Amino acid sequence: MPRIYITTPIYYVNGDPHLGSAYTMLITDTLARYYRARGWETFFLTGTDEHGDKIEKAAAAAGVSPKALTDRVSASFRAAWDDCDITYDHFIRTTDEHHIRYVQEVLARLYDTGDIYFGGYQGLYCFGCERFYTPKELRDGKCPDHLTEPKMIEEETYFFRMSKYQERLIAHLEAHPDFIRPEGFRNEVVAMLREPIGDLSISRPKTRLTWGIEMPFDNRYVTYVWFDALLNYISALKHKGEDVFERFWPEAEHFIGKDILKPHGVFWPTMLMAMGEPLYRHLNVHGFWTVEGQKMSKSLGNVISPLDMKAKIGLDAFRYFLLRESVFGQDADFREDSLHARYNAELANNIGNLVSRSLAMQDRYFQGAVQPLSDPMPEIDQRLVAAFAQAAAEVEQHVTNLSLSRALEAVFRATDHANKYITETAPFTLAKDPASLPRVGAILHNLLEALRVSAQLLTPFLPDTCEKIFAALVLPDERKRVYDLPWGRAFAPGHQVQKPQALFPRLP
Ligand SMILES: [Zn+2]
Repeated sequence: MPRIYITTPIYYVNGDPHLGSAYTMLITDTLARYYRARGWETFFLTGTDEHGDKIEKAAAAAGVSPKALTDRVSASFRAAWDDCDITYDHFIRTTDEHHIRYVQEVLARLYDTGDIYFGGYQGLYCFGCERFYTPKELRDGKCPDHLTEPKMIEEETYFFRMSKYQERLIAHLEAHPDFIRPEGFRNEVVAMLREPIGDLSISRPKTRLTWGIEMPFDNRYVTYVWFDALLNYISALKHKGEDVFERFWPEAEHFIGKDILKPHGVFWPTMLMAMGEPLYRHLNVHGFWTVEGQKMSKSLGNVISPLDMKAKIGLDAFRYFLLRESVFGQDADFREDSLHARYNAELANNIGNLVSRSLAMQDRYFQGAVQPLSDPMPEIDQRLVAAFAQAAAEVEQHVTNLSLSRALEAVFRATDHANKYITETAPFTLAKDPASLPRVGAILHNLLEALRVSAQLLTPFLPDTCEKIFAALVLPDERKRVYDLPWGRAFAPGHQVQKPQALFPRLP
C-alpha cells in the first residue's frame, strides 16, 4: 500500500491563525483527504512551536507562566483547525514530554559524536527574530523584518557542525532535482550552498533565555528554537511507535511558507545527516498572500481570519478560493472582488447550478426515482463520460504536481460540459411530450452520474459540499469511494434521490 507523511510547520504560539497558516493547512488537508480517499496510508501532522524569548516575554507581560500561556494559545490554534475541519492525525506541541526527551537524546548523541561542540560567538542579533544576522542580510543596517537595528552581542555557545555536511547536501540536491520544489526555491538553496554555510549556533545561555529545552550535557544552556522545532517531524512519529517512524519517515512531504526555507532546506537536512537518518522526500514551499495588494498586518487592520471567512461565506467557499486563486510556490493576492466573482461564476453558477437543476428535474418529472439509462437503446452520453474521465486523469496529474488550482479547473471544465449538456438536450422541453419521458429519464440518469463523479473528484477540495451531494444522491459509502465504477452502474432504476438544497446561494 502506498504511503505518505504530510507535515505543516508547527505554528509559533505568539499569534493567531491567519490567512497564511490557514492556506498551508488547507493545502495539506486537501492532499491528506485526496490520498486517504485513494487508499494510501496517510499520516498528517501539525502542531505548535512553544519555546523561545518571545513566549517568555509575552508570558511575563501577561503575568502568567510560559507554560500557562502556551497551553492557552496552543489550544486556540487546535480549536481553530478543528473548526476548519482540518483532518490532522496528530497535533504535536514542543512542550510535550516525549518531544523534549527526544530532542535531548539527539543533542546528547551528536555531542558524543563530536557534531556538537562548544565555542565563542559574536554577532548582530535581532531580538524580534530571535536570530543572528550577517551584515549582508540586513537592509540599511536594520533587520529586514522588524526594521530595527540589531544589537552586537558576544557569547559562548554550542555549535552544530553543519559545515561538515555541506558537500553531502550539495550532492543530494544534484542527485534529487525535485528535493525542494518548486524549482525557484531549490535554486535559492543551491545559491545559499555556494558560500560556506558555517556552523550553527544552537544554544542560548539561561541568563538570557530559560524557556527552552535544557542541554543534556550543560545545564547552563537551553537549545535554540530551530534545533528544538525541526525535530518535531520525527519525535511525533516516534511517539506513535518505532514502526510508525520506520514506515512513514521515508515518505515525508514537508509543506512550509517561503520565510522558513533556510532552516528546512539547509539546517534540517544537515541535522538529519548528522543523526544518521534518511532525508525527507520533498520540501514543498509555498508563497505568501497579500490582501488587496498589501502586506497583511495587524496595524493595517487587513488580517483575514479563517473563522471569520467561514462565518461569512462558508468554509468550502473559502477553501475553494484559496486553492483556486493561487499557484503553488507563487505569491497570491486575496481580493474581495475576485472572491465574489469566483463564488458566483464557479461555485453558484457552475457546480451549484448543475446540482440543483439536475435534482430539481429528477424530482419534478419522476418524483426522485431514477430511470433506466438504456431502454430501448444505450443512452450513455459518451461525450459526457469522456469529459469526466479526462477530468479524473487531469486531477491525478495536477495533484501529484501540487497544481491544485489546475485540478479544480479540470473538474469545473467537466461540470461546465454537463451544464451545456442540459442546455443542448433540453430535457425541460422534451418533458412536455409524454412520449419523450424515457429520453428525459436517460438524460437525467447521465446527469446523476455526472454529479456522482464530480463529488468524488471534488471531495478533497470541497468536503462539506460533496457530502451534501452524496447525501442527496443517497449513495451508500462503498459506492462513493469506487473511482472506476462504470458510468450507469451506480444507480439502479427506481433508486430514490432527494430534492436539491442550495449549495452556494448567489452573493448579492
Ligand atoms: Zn527581526
